[in-house]
Amino acid sequence: MGSAVEFVELGKTYGAHVALSPTSFLIEPGEFFSIIGPSGSGKSTMLGVTAGFISASKGAVVIDGKNIVSVPPYRRNIGMVFQNYALFPFLTVAENIAFPLRMRGIPRADREVRVRKLMDAVRLGALQDRYPAMLSGGQQQRVALARAAVYDPAILLMDEPLGALDKNLREEMQEEIRGFQASIGATVMYVTHDQNEATSMARRIAIMSTGKIEQIGAPEQLYLDPTNAFVASFLGEANLLEIKSTSLSKERTTMVLLEGGFEVATKTPKDGRAPTFLLVRPENIKVSRSGGDENSALKGYVREVIYAAGTVKYKVSVGPLNINARIMGEEMFPLFCVGEEIQVWWAPSASSLVAA
Ligand code: ADP
Repeated sequence: MGSAVEFVELGKTYGAHVALSPTSFLIEPGEFFSIIGPSGSGKSTMLGVTAGFISASKGAVVIDGKNIVSVPPYRRNIGMVFQNYALFPFLTVAENIAFPLRMRGIPRADREVRVRKLMDAVRLGALQDRYPAMLSGGQQQRVALARAAVYDPAILLMDEPLGALDKNLREEMQEEIRGFQASIGATVMYVTHDQNEATSMARRIAIMSTGKIEQIGAPEQLYLDPTNAFVASFLGEANLLEIKSTSLSKERTTMVLLEGGFEVATKTPKDGRAPTFLLVRPENIKVSRSGGDENSALKGYVREVIYAAGTVKYKVSVGPLNINARIMGEEMFPLFCVGEEIQVWWAPSASSLVAA
């Protein structure tokens, strides 16, 4: 079983540059946890400090109740998988996988049993005598996975492990890595810049920008209730409508005044966030020629129509507001044309307030 990893006010600076603002959170034992964010947001710094090849400037990384920030990397019981595989070209598949066990002085007989087990787990049994140059990208990544897990580390860190593979293979390997993790039970920290990869693989995700964790939560929670505009627009498409003022109408409902004088109802956020935008996802917006909900329908016209298989996106102007609607399946027909006058509306429960 994997170990819990707790970050306590962990921070990293390079001179005056803050690569990681002090951050605290806990990853549960055996959890598949993903870190996402744009390039330069601090994802690799987070992994590097956990693995030990980047020194922390402040704070603690607590594993099994022990702060490990001053423990050298090779004594941390953490496995690493990189995008570039980092395999030894002059060693065979079996020798690559056995390498960490040799380094640890594990006797040959034990090594062979363990290597065989890992090769079977990643379906490489038949290729044990090949050299890395004779393997496909996916096969090389499987060797890297097996090698990282062969000494049974409590934690596996993966830094964009599928970044070098093409789309179909990536999807296949995503499932394989999930299955592999479930079978070995290690705690996984998985860094990617690909939101779909993170949301399909991880139970919880931390979203980073400029060295800061913006929000941590389950994929659906981050999508449905992002706390701020960065998180809202990083995961999926978002209409972020600027708010002029808000007033609490009932305990759970807030009335929002938008630009152009439009007033709509939404959910009152549970936390005390200061709202700057009303978030409405395009797929939650309804469009019709007439007959929308009279109380909340906004009149506008179609500025652009973008059709793709199974879905149509309308860019709609509503006074000064630009609103994107995505309509799917049977509801797409009849299609509207550019210039056509339409109504747009959404259920108050399908919108939420987010901070700047
Ligand atoms: P990511 O993995 O999200 O792309 P990184 O963790 O690599 O981001 O980098 C976070 C920030 O720290 C970036 O602004 C980067 O330029 C900076 N940084 C990373 N390594 C160094 C270094 N050795 N010296 C100075 N700045 C660094």
